[in-house]
Amino acid sequence: MTAASFRGTVEVWIVLSPAPGTCYADRVTDRRNTAGVQGLDTASRRVLERAEVEGIDLIRFLYADHGGVIRGKAASRPRLAERLRTGIGHTVAMMAMNMLDQLQEVEGLGPVGEVRLMPDPATFVPLPYAQGAGAMLCELRTPGGGAWAACPRTFLREAVESLAAEGYTLVAAFEPEFTLGRREPTEGLDRLAPVDDSLCYSTTGFDVAHDYIAQLIKAMETQGLRVEHYHPELGHGQQELSIRHAPALRAADNQIIYRETVRGVALRTGLWASLAPKPLADQAGNGAHLHLSLWDPETTTNLFDSPADPDGLSELGHHFVGGLLAHLPALVALTCGTVNSFRRLAPRMWSSAYACYGLDNREAAVRICSPLAAGSANLEYKPSDSSANPYLSLGAVIHAGLDGVRRRLDPGDALAVDPDTLTGDARARLGIERLPASLGEALDALEADELLMEALGPLRRSAYLAVKRSEAAAFAAQDESYELFHHFRVF
Ligand code: GLU
Ligand code: MG
Repeated sequence: MTAASFRGTVEVWIVLSPAPGTCYADRVTDRRNTAGVQGLDTASRRVLERAEVEGIDLIRFLYADHGGVIRGKAASRPRLAERLRTGIGHTVAMMAMNMLDQLQEVEGLGPVGEVRLMPDPATFVPLPYAQGAGAMLCELRTPGGGAWAACPRTFLREAVESLAAEGYTLVAAFEPEFTLGRREPTEGLDRLAPVDDSLCYSTTGFDVAHDYIAQLIKAMETQGLRVEHYHPELGHGQQELSIRHAPALRAADNQIIYRETVRGVALRTGLWASLAPKPLADQAGNGAHLHLSLWDPETTTNLFDSPADPDGLSELGHHFVGGLLAHLPALVALTCGTVNSFRRLAPRMWSSAYACYGLDNREAAVRICSPLAAGSANLEYKPSDSSANPYLSLGAVIHAGLDGVRRRLDPGDALAVDPDTLTGDARARLGIERLPASLGEALDALEADELLMEALGPLRRSAYLAVKRSEAAAFAAQDESYELFHHFRVF
């Protein structure tokens, strides 16, 4: 059956080839007398065209807030051309909302004031788990179209621009783990019941989760995320599926799409998937380790690569590590963003609990990954999970690393043992500190970090601190089951 035969007369246009020099979207929208496409760039026109051809009637305009929650509004297809031009209006107050939907008092983020959810048309994806829906990732802009001081995606974009000014491109991939289960009612709050109790990397684990994972991989690929590896992880119901690295902004966008897809595919199959750092208190935590390397955009060479170095890491790479270690306690407030995150950051969990680095050291906060092939040198930053806002998280990592590069910071010697096996004195001699043990401690470290506070800027930092302090207080007043429920519900 052709598109024309089942979609009716209007869509006959689909099978006609456009006149030279015209865009298909021009002709469809002009003919329907909806808002024209004049003034829209090629990427936006392509979005209109795909929405039409693929029957996408509702297009979600998505962003991640200071609580790390993915939120948005949706535009209908007939309004899409206009909304691509103007964005969708949104209250500024939503950037003062925490993960419990409790609005915090932040100056400038009250009931008066408006921003625009301005989509990046290059991020358009059809949603394979929600028929008739698509999504784009947005920046929050001022009504006049300018950069808004509390937009997380703008924070990352500007960090990427600072790197570019120094001649670097950062390539990254989040490597999330998640728990596959069912949401089951109890007498109190729902609990997450994992799909299995299979062993780590076991073939039983592969078989139990197979149908879901097969759908998930298809859904990822449909949206342009290239799946690299998959395995059943250590925890009950725990899965790990990695995707290919990409330039920094795209890597953070991918993390949003990834989180949406893991949850969306599960919902369609009667399951509940959680990327919360520790949805099951007695099981392994869900990390989202961040793999990164700096590249020369001109020559497209990996600048972390140094076959001559015993660890395979260049001097530039060592300085970048120096920057990460120098800012680590504060960074954790942005890369491990929730109360639940700190259950995961414990010794002997392979999630990192100490500020140190080492070659293939899986208990160090920064692991130098031994290269699999020439040009594949990369760092794995481990105190990172999917409850973080990926734009803030990656942006902060860039600022910290770049600080190390600019100041030529020396990270000291790589550590070849599990730091938890050293005595306290030995760690002190080596300058190895414990990472913050709670969200509150991490926020204290963030407030004391001049570089990161300056990079965030006044509105963003006051909003982030208010939102996160409120979460720390709200969960401190409740028990463990309340914390687990709210985190596996949201993340
Ligand atoms: N689940 C561990 C974490 O919380 C990571 C295990 C691994 O893949 O090395 O980060
Ligand atoms: Mg893993």
